[in-house]
Amino acid sequence: MAHILILGAGYAGIRTAKRLAKLAPSDTQIDLVDKNPIHVEKMSLHEIAAGTSSVDSMSFNIKSAIDTNKVNFIQATVTKVDKDNKTVTFSDHEEMTYDYLVVGLGFRSENFGLPGADEYSLVLEDIPTAKKIYSTIEANVAKYKESNDPNDLSILVCGAGFTGVEILGELIDTTKKLQAKYDVPEIKVTCLEMATRILPMFDEDLANYAVDYLKDSGINLLTGAKIKQIEKDGVLYDDDQGTEHKVTGSTIVWTVGVSGSDVITESGFDAKRNRVMVTDYLNIESNPEVYIIGDVSASMDPESERPYPTTAQLAIAQGDVAAENIVAAIKGGEPEKFTYHSLGTIASLGQHKGIADMIIGGKHIKTKGYLASHVKNFSKDKSILEVSKLKIALAKGKL
Ligand SMILES: Cc1cc2nc3c(=O)[nH]c(=O)nc-3n(C[C@H](O)[C@H](O)[C@H](O)COP(=O)(O)OP(=O)(O)OC[C@H]3O[C@@H](n4cnc5c(N)ncnc54)[C@H](O)[C@@H]3O)c2cc1C
Repeated sequence: MAHILILGAGYAGIRTAKRLAKLAPSDTQIDLVDKNPIHVEKMSLHEIAAGTSSVDSMSFNIKSAIDTNKVNFIQATVTKVDKDNKTVTFSDHEEMTYDYLVVGLGFRSENFGLPGADEYSLVLEDIPTAKKIYSTIEANVAKYKESNDPNDLSILVCGAGFTGVEILGELIDTTKKLQAKYDVPEIKVTCLEMATRILPMFDEDLANYAVDYLKDSGINLLTGAKIKQIEKDGVLYDDDQGTEHKVTGSTIVWTVGVSGSDVITESGFDAKRNRVMVTDYLNIESNPEVYIIGDVSASMDPESERPYPTTAQLAIAQGDVAAENIVAAIKGGEPEKFTYHSLGTIASLGQHKGIADMIIGGKHIKTKGYLASHVKNFSKDKSILEVSKLKIALAKGKL
């Protein structure tokens, strides 16, 4: 009897478990481990951070989404993988052994050691950090009436990558609502971004639409701004001429970068920013029984000769292939090479606007505005279906 241990019940891990439940021989032991009892749709975290969606609408109980006759869910926090001895240690559970291991432990925020970032900025990694962003914004706005400090009505977002832009989009609505709720002057949102052209994954027309929409909605978008230091009351940066400035605000949100889980480095995997370069079969050469998928893996796109960008879409596709290759290994069959065809890239700009570059039948179909926000909702519903069950998606008001 083979024992498969899956670490992480995010998009990658839960999808692997679901596929294994269908394909693995009936005597296989499949254990799925996560530190939380609920699966969180991380691609909607920015909505919790801006207070525009509830936690309940984007999370579900892991056990309710899997076939518990075939997959055993264990709530535990992984601390280390010992790939030579095929064991995994936890901070709150006894050590476990495995025959096959799937590592899908996801991302964490990365601040590149920037001075002050740890102390004074808020990261977006999971539900607690997302909730903390919203509660900080609201608490600062609420205290303005007493403090009269304009910084309490100033939100700074560091980074205008995908996550930063999606938060900015949501904040357009949030700031209006909070301004009315607390009867305060205008709440200012400033975003600092080092690049001069944001959203490079989109063509110029779509990226410009996003920039114009954000600016027209009152967001102060500072591009070419090289952040040097985060302070308690603001951000120090150099402009593109090298001149230093400070922009002040009581809420500072950090969305500049992400890395894979620290368990990767703790476990001695050969990795860059906690992402392990995997083979075409999604395992690692030194230990072929170890599969690494989702945001902790770097799997090579043969076309661009660079690792695929980490997305939920990619994590789900990798989960399928990792499961199939483990079953092939158990049964003595041929493994399958991982090939990936992205369905495109979509960024929301609040609840009713967005930009989308879809790839259908090899052709790019681009859209922006209201239609793109529907495409985004469709893509989120699709992901929820792929990692849960129809009745869960319906109960969450999806589809
Ligand atoms: C704001 C935002 C918007 C996004 N939008 C999109 C989008 O539109 N489309 C898209 O495809 N992607 C999007 N992404 C990216 C996508 O969310 C990630 O690529 C995806 O979550 C990666 O899936 P994963 O399964 O590798 O990791 P995760 O979803 O991060 O899951 C990792 C799991 O591991 C668990 N875990 C972590 N550490 C431990 C530990 N030590 N012990 C036990 N369990 C642990 C966590 O609880 C979690 O359940 C977005 C991300 C963000 C933040």
